[in-house]
Amino acid sequence: MKTLNLSDKKNMKGIAVSKGVAVGKAHLLDRSKLCIIKQTLEEHEVEKEIERFRDAIAKTKLQMADIKNRAEKIADKYAVILDTYTLLLDDEILVNDTIEKIRSLRTNAEWTLNQTLETFLNLFENTNDNYLKGKKDDLDLLVQAILRNLTGHSQETLSDIQEPVILITHSLSPSDTLSMPRKFIKGLATETGGKTSHVGIFAAALGIPAVTGIKDLTSQINSGEEIIVDGIDGEVIIHPNTDNTNHFLKKQENYRRYEEKLLINIHQPAETLDGYQIHLLANIESNQEVKTLHKFGAEGVGLYRTEFLYMSASSLPTEKELYENFKNIAQEIGDKPVVIRTLDIGMDKQLAEVEMSNENNPALGLRGIRFSLVKPDLFISQLKSILKASFYGNVKVLYPMISSVTEIIQANELLQKAKSILKKEQTPFNENIEVGAMIETPAATICIDHILDEVDFISIGSNDLIQYLLAIDRVNENVAHLYQPFHPSVIRSLKNIFDAKKAGKKISICGELGGDPMATMLLMGLGLIDSLSMEPHSIPKVKKIIRLIRLEEARQVADHVLNLKSVEEISHFLANEMRARFPDDFDRDISFQEKQKPA
Ligand code: PEP
Ligand code: MG
Repeated sequence: MKTLNLSDKKNMKGIAVSKGVAVGKAHLLDRSKLCIIKQTLEEHEVEKEIERFRDAIAKTKLQMADIKNRAEKIADKYAVILDTYTLLLDDEILVNDTIEKIRSLRTNAEWTLNQTLETFLNLFENTNDNYLKGKKDDLDLLVQAILRNLTGHSQETLSDIQEPVILITHSLSPSDTLSMPRKFIKGLATETGGKTSHVGIFAAALGIPAVTGIKDLTSQINSGEEIIVDGIDGEVIIHPNTDNTNHFLKKQENYRRYEEKLLINIHQPAETLDGYQIHLLANIESNQEVKTLHKFGAEGVGLYRTEFLYMSASSLPTEKELYENFKNIAQEIGDKPVVIRTLDIGMDKQLAEVEMSNENNPALGLRGIRFSLVKPDLFISQLKSILKASFYGNVKVLYPMISSVTEIIQANELLQKAKSILKKEQTPFNENIEVGAMIETPAATICIDHILDEVDFISIGSNDLIQYLLAIDRVNENVAHLYQPFHPSVIRSLKNIFDAKKAGKKISICGELGGDPMATMLLMGLGLIDSLSMEPHSIPKVKKIIRLIRLEEARQVADHVLNLKSVEEISHFLANEMRARFPDDFDRDISFQEKQKPA
């Protein structure tokens, strides 16, 4: 037990990963690591120990598969993430290295595995592979699961919780997230994890207010004590006084009402007051997400990131599997568009099944279309599946990471080849399937006029475009503060693209910027956009803004921004402008909180 003065209110800052506010009693879940002791084995005990280790791995695999099955019923996006665990359990270093070390060092499995974990964690720290780096917490959790299977150590289970609580813990394993009685979990706060970790994705998928990444959180509170989790501003308030509690209860109610109101116009068109209509589409990573799109008012799929299909499988998906997956989406979406992006592997998204050379600069390496062009068989197989699915709906194909017209020509040649194969096989497909290019490199923005000649549509990938324009690694936390969507060079590049618009060629934005309500008016004013594609839950707010502005006003805002010289000036101007026009949406001090924050 900790000795704390209960009247000591304390605000702790973390990462807001799932919006909403929870006020209630803390339930402290002890997920501290097991204490592992080193034991030396006799020669004759070694093989038996290895067998015990293999059994624990097999047991953990079964547990993970079971968890994944159950996760699919809750949230598909979450289930996809859990596949990483299975991949890690098949990993050479984790399993084989441990076995080799048990043999050579003659040490017990628990201690040896822990040593391997240390090596692995150090490797993650020093690697250039940001995807793996981001999975550090997940690997740690997985090893703890194996260790528990080795030691036979059982943990307090969450299924015992019988009343509404706010869950406080160091970390939460996938099995924790699935065994928790969700109706009783009002909020969640953890010491580890970020927005894209499985806890963040899980909480957001279920709408549980959550804050992660709060150091020393568990040493500051005991079970049963009052706590507030503010998933809007990323804060946890420990030992709140009555004023604090009332203030956050109000914030909670305001947020609930605000969310409810946003959904009212969800099935109306995204049309400005002066009649300019665009389409709001969804970015998806799994075919199962499609079922939920209607509830957010998505008018189709503007970006299907297909690499997750490859990353979540233990072997490369077959052409048939891909086709079934794409067809399923096309049929579900009906006559609305489904833009399928071809494999955008490399950089932060790696494939276990495909040998990739260790690149010093993966962001500038063999990624996106470059990878597909050197692996034509893999590419043609994907193109054939997309073509076959095009028979069942309004399917379009999108090439990622285009930096030259030549790449589009080469990709189109392979598309042609895929079409000829299908014709020979007498397999039906849409001969006139639309072809698009992602505009996410500075080279593509500069030669946009030539690119537009080669494609039916373009989709601006602002996430990468910002990274390459500003020379800021988009997943490097050391330069995260310099990753600035409102940098004048980003705005000018967008303007350059929009100005090159040609008759019949459609323009969309599918990077995060397209779903940022703070940018909506600016983007509408910068040029004639046909669609914006975003995380489905961003659609209601963006739609609300579009329906309340005039194109003429948006153009004035954009003209003004184009004359500003710095990120600070642009951010400040946009914040003031949007707050003045939409106080309920941008000024949280007014909308979700009372004007006067209590001390
Ligand atoms: C982008 O770069 O903006 C984009 C949408 O693609 P991804 O985030 O998958 O790289
Ligand atoms: Mg991209």
